[in-house]
Order: sequence, then structure tokens, then C-alpha cells
Amino acid sequence: MKIGVVGCAGRMGRMVIEEVLATEGCSLAGGTEAGSGPIGQDLGTLVGASATGALVTEDVEALFARADAVIDFTVPAATRTHATFAGKTGTAYVVGTTGLEADDLKLIETAAETAPVIYAANFSVGVNVLLALTERLAATLGADAFDIEVLEMHHRHKVDAPSGTALALGEAAARGRGVPLDQVSRLSREGQTGARPEGEIGFATLRGGEVVGDHTVMFAGGAERIELNHKAASRAIFAKGAVRAARWLDGKGPGLYAMSDVLGLD
Ligand code: NAD
Repeated sequence: MKIGVVGCAGRMGRMVIEEVLATEGCSLAGGTEAGSGPIGQDLGTLVGASATGALVTEDVEALFARADAVIDFTVPAATRTHATFAGKTGTAYVVGTTGLEADDLKLIETAAETAPVIYAANFSVGVNVLLALTERLAATLGADAFDIEVLEMHHRHKVDAPSGTALALGEAAARGRGVPLDQVSRLSREGQTGARPEGEIGFATLRGGEVVGDHTVMFAGGAERIELNHKAASRAIFAKGAVRAARWLDGKGPGLYAMSDVLGLD
């Protein structure tokens, strides 16, 4: 399977290159970068490995045309372009970019009408299990007795908040309670906030150092508290999940799939 890596010089892009090189049956179709990136460099040498013959270019269309699957960890503006090319070419498309707005997600859904697509705010196996557990606990522990808070910490370079994973955990909790998240979410608090309304799903964001990604979902009752924790120690887990998702898409028809489909969690 030939895998293309858009944003291949980024922190995640490099991890994906390493994972493709380490995966039997997979090879690199090439990569793209923004104009200021290392255009013309070999993807192998970009990560300190041997040359592969696959180069970094700015030609997104050509990459989608020659790849069997494209993996995207970039920025929302670039992902909008990539989703359009995935739709045009029907190439399997794995999207991990976070900070996407509703309109961006619509573009991904449109691409999924003609291409097999997986979007996940977090490609780690552990976090996807955490999502399933969160939904189940939220459905079991009533909003009258338990308050839900989602806490996350990431490295100092992260540009969006709360993290896509924190929001996905909030979505899972809201789904468990049968309510839309946007009607019950409190994304941050400061000043005279008043007492906590029943049913609210709160978020708290920490930033610092090189923390890869910590997430906690708290279910706080009157005299007891349940906390679900996940701590990522290396970005490699996201790259592994994304390459696993790309391989799972091989031979699938158009549609928007989830990591829970890849992992058989439903
Ligand atoms: P990064 O800034 O290190 O990498 C982004 C790369 O995209 C950069 O190299 C940048 O030059 C490149 N880029 C920007 N515009 C481009 C364009 N038009 N064409 C091609 N390349 C372009 O960031 P990162 O830490 O690798 O994270 C990237 C994204 O992935 C973020 O949104 C982050 O939150 C998300 N992320 C998701 C997961 C997940 O599991 N879903 C895990 C980690 C990070």
C-alpha cells in the first residue's frame, strides 16, 4: 500500500513517515509541505533513514492521484484543500488535524461521499477505549448525582484549545446523556461564574513543557468521584493508529468511518 503524507515535515508527519517505513506491506508515495518546508528532500532522509525515492513536493493533486491512502496531520486551512482532493480522486483519506470548525467537518463529510475517510481527534487505541468508557459511564451515572469535567494538558506549542480529544470526550459524555454537547458545555471559567448548573459538562485546559497529551474525565458525585485517565508518552501512538486506519480503509467503499470501526469497539 502506497501512503502519502501531507505536512510530512511536521511533528506528526515525521512520526507517520517512520511508522510507514516500519510497517510491512506499506511504502511511501511521497509527501507535501507548505512552501517554506523542505521541498525536494527525500522523505527517508527527512527522518534520518535511508533515501526512499519519495520526495517532499507542493503538488497535492499529484500526491492524491498516485497514493492509495493519504494521512493528514496539518492545519485546518490545509485540511480543507486536502479533503477536496480526496473527494475528487476517491483516494482513502485519514485526517487527524484538530481545531476544525463545523464547515471543515462538512467538507470532510462531502469527501466521504466519494472516498473512504476516517476522521479522529485522537488515533491512539487507549483514547478510543476511553471514549467508549466515558459514554458508558455518562449513561449510567445520572446528571442529578454526578458532574462531568474534562481536564487536558498539552505541550506549549499547541495552538487550539480545548484539545480535539477533550472535545471528543465531551461529545462522548453528552451522547451518553442523550444531549447535544453545545447545549451543556462550559469551555472555560473565570470570575463570578455562579454555581455549577446541573448537567453542565465542563472543560479545563493546561499548557506547558513537552507534554504529549494527558486527558482526565471526572465524574464528581456528592461523596465519591470516578476519574478516567489517559496519558500519552509518545506521539508514535497516534502515527501507529493512523497507519492502522489507512490499512483498514484499503478496499473499503466511500464513507465516513471512525476509529471505533477500525478497532471493533462498537
Ligand atoms: P506541526 O506544526 O508540527 O505540523 C504541521 C505541519 O503541517 C507543518 O510541518 C506545516 O508546515 C504543515 N503544513 C501547513 N500547511 C500546509 C499545507 N498547505 N500543505 C502541506 N503541509 C502544510 O503540528 P503537529 O504537532 O504535527 O500537529 C498537526 C495537527 O495534528 C494538529 O492539528 C494537532 O492537534 C493534530 N494532532 C492530532 C492527533 C490525532 O491523533 N488526531 C495527534 C497529534 C496531533
